[in-house]
Amino acid sequence: MLAVHQAADGGLARVRVPGGVLRIGQLEVLRVAALELGDGRLELTSRGNVQIRALKPDGPRELSDRLFAAGLLPSITHERVRNILASPLSGLDQQSSYDVLPVVNALDEALCACPSLAELPGRFLFALDDGRGDLAGIGADVAVRAVDHREALLTLGGHGAVRVPWSHAVEVMLAAAEAFLAVRTEEWRIAELEDGEGRILDRLGLQATEELPTATTTVGAGRHGDALVATVPLGSLTQDQATALTHAVAGEAAVRLTPWRSVVVPVVAGEQLEKVGLVTTADSPWNGVTACAGRPGCGKALADVRGDARRMLQLVPRDGRRVHWSGCERRCGKPAGEFVDVVAVGNGYLVDGVRM
Ligand code: SF4
Repeated sequence: MLAVHQAADGGLARVRVPGGVLRIGQLEVLRVAALELGDGRLELTSRGNVQIRALKPDGPRELSDRLFAAGLLPSITHERVRNILASPLSGLDQQSSYDVLPVVNALDEALCACPSLAELPGRFLFALDDGRGDLAGIGADVAVRAVDHREALLTLGGHGAVRVPWSHAVEVMLAAAEAFLAVRTEEWRIAELEDGEGRILDRLGLQATEELPTATTTVGAGRHGDALVATVPLGSLTQDQATALTHAVAGEAAVRLTPWRSVVVPVVAGEQLEKVGLVTTADSPWNGVTACAGRPGCGKALADVRGDARRMLQLVPRDGRRVHWSGCERRCGKPAGEFVDVVAVGNGYLVDGVRM
């Protein structure tokens, strides 16, 4: 059965979506499950996964059965470690040097087929960048970035760069994960190991000889080629919004969840999505704003951060940075890199350490 965390508002289930690719039938299964078994909402995470909150006592068993039938729970033993991010616009626009999604599927299958890798820490993260550099700042443990359709650059813990052919990428990525398990003691991430990159490369017989490109890009709301990126305000997808997404994509196609709590759909869907509160323009104040669960979902929360973020959306000065609202100092779900830090302190909020 799917492992479920007990939160203040009931069971909290995380559904892994490798590469963020969610077929419409699967999205519909999640939508109905959230309605019937949880609080009705689908939460998008910073790893492109989905969470369902407030599960009733018999919810986890029923949810597991539904996920299994929909192909969303292919391995109980490896569910926790299927953390695989991919460039959400892979193969959809001119900036994509190589479509990494077939490699994501191959990696996921090979990961689940390798018994020893079930021991990876749940925080361990794989990333496949299609060459544009949108995942460069995501802090993956084992990442590949496309050079072209023949080769990619492998990095470990964000360091070094080793050129590998795509035909060997899955094998090398999993070998790096196994090498991490061999050298770790209690560390959860490669970056926590002293000279983790060097020790793992040594075990693999590889050397970092390449320069990693410094160019990075962000994938914001709006049109990108034939695709549209729609921000989900505070990463919390309502029933109406999930339904609009299922109607926006034809047939057996898929939406793609991004690690920035947005969704990639075909351009034609824009108007329908705006009607239900999804954001499809780059100048909306909702872009780049995230929040932890807060009250009532989390027992540690000092405030209803999502409600407050909605009420005070325009009051926080941003100077181009993302904004993250937290109900306590743990700052769950905070974005990678620089952000405006809004933290509840019991009788108000500190914004970058200054009382608001
Ligand atoms: S940051 Fe604090 S209040 Fe928010 S979800 Fe995490 S533990 Fe709960």
